[in-house]
Amino acid sequence: MSTKSGAASEELTFFGDVCQFFDHAAQFTNHPAGLLDQIKSCNSVYRFRFPIRKGDGLEVIDAWRVEHSHHKSPTKGGIRYSEMVNEDEVMALAALMTYKCAIVNVPFGGAKGGIKINPKNYSLAELENITRRYTVELVKKNFIGPGIDVPAPDYGSGEREMSWIADTYQTMNPGQLDALGCVTGKPIALHGIAGRREATGRGVAIAVRECVSVADDMKVLGLTPGLAGKRVIVQGLGNVGYHSAKFLAEFGAIIVGLCEFEGAIYNEKGLDIDEVFNHRKASGSILGFKGAQKEFKKSLEGLEQPCDILVPAALENQITEENVVRIHAKIIAEGANGPTTPGAEEMFVKQGGIIIPDMYCNAGGVTVSYFEWLKNLSHVAFGRMDKRYEETANENIVNMVEASTGVKLSPEQRSVIVKGATELELVNSGLEDTMIRSYHEIRDVKMANPKIKTLRIAAFVNAIDKIAVSYSNMGVWP
Ligand code: GLU
Repeated sequence: MSTKSGAASEELTFFGDVCQFFDHAAQFTNHPAGLLDQIKSCNSVYRFRFPIRKGDGLEVIDAWRVEHSHHKSPTKGGIRYSEMVNEDEVMALAALMTYKCAIVNVPFGGAKGGIKINPKNYSLAELENITRRYTVELVKKNFIGPGIDVPAPDYGSGEREMSWIADTYQTMNPGQLDALGCVTGKPIALHGIAGRREATGRGVAIAVRECVSVADDMKVLGLTPGLAGKRVIVQGLGNVGYHSAKFLAEFGAIIVGLCEFEGAIYNEKGLDIDEVFNHRKASGSILGFKGAQKEFKKSLEGLEQPCDILVPAALENQITEENVVRIHAKIIAEGANGPTTPGAEEMFVKQGGIIIPDMYCNAGGVTVSYFEWLKNLSHVAFGRMDKRYEETANENIVNMVEASTGVKLSPEQRSVIVKGATELELVNSGLEDTMIRSYHEIRDVKMANPKIKTLRIAAFVNAIDKIAVSYSNMGVWP
């Protein structure tokens, strides 16, 4: 069943791509067209412009905040700082946030923000000014708040920007007890949560590990089950790419290729991600790394090198109908949002590949943002109340077992058993459980209907069904 609102179908836009996937998936659901239309549409699009002082003059900054779906409150999603940002992109990313949250059972609607600047062209003071002014504009229109809309980092923004947002919001809302829940991805010292920085990359690595653990699916791809020895190429050495590569290597994969704007490097025996990162930091380029066997000045050539798994973790539209035929990978794990065009996906799946879709694959960030928001609302760090209690209880059990069996544990064995969970361990455990469960939920939807050819369409079906239930719970639809 195709629904009417959304982007014009003739012109291919990013939001149009998302709507195209949605319409395809909607055929496998039984919801009325009006409800599907409501789920698909962007509920609120706020476009604004504000001046900042730059040098001797003023500069007008273009900015957006899109709340795609209010089926749950607050809405949630990052703020992108990029020269390339535009309304269509922010709408698409907000829509993906809605589906993403539904897939990983995070009780938020989707939103996204955009500030059209290249952060590299602005001083620290100017960036702070832009971020604070952006926040003021959101406050003025009721587009931010712990129960309204909760931004987070995205491409071009990070903990620093989030702390400016939190401070501005708090200043404008004196005495609001939950004010710090107005934004996530804050520094730990300023009410953030352990594990948020690396959460998206860790989630990507867990998603890939789960995918390759299914022996039946790997047999079809001609791969052995398990991550050990799998060759991986990662595009993007930002927060998501860096951490995806790091955790995939930790789980036993070999990072054979890394790609950035300026080019790509490859070594079939493996690249040390930290060495490459430090080399780029020192020299300003990924190229010239001494541990590389080959290097490519054209970054996209890096994606076309021999590997089993490709992790695009940079920007949208990287794998297209033009280059997909040259991709060697059997699995594409979308760390970025929208890196594969619909046409490319169709061809890749026909070539016999699996795509782990963005809206599931990179959902680790928002999952841990949810934990941070819960922490901010409860005003207590996870583990603070029960860590010592748990340790004492475990100590008592070990003492009793030792006394009754006569077996004495070594101090190391004892501390492994006795130790209570830290905040980081609880966060990572919640994240791992979420990623594993959600993978199988999506795969089960796909397996239940042979007409569903991709995990992406299965993920959409899963999300649409869950959002439809929320609307019926609200009494909006029967
Ligand atoms: N910007 C991230 C995303 O696209 C994180 C969003 C969040 O934590 O709210 O998923």
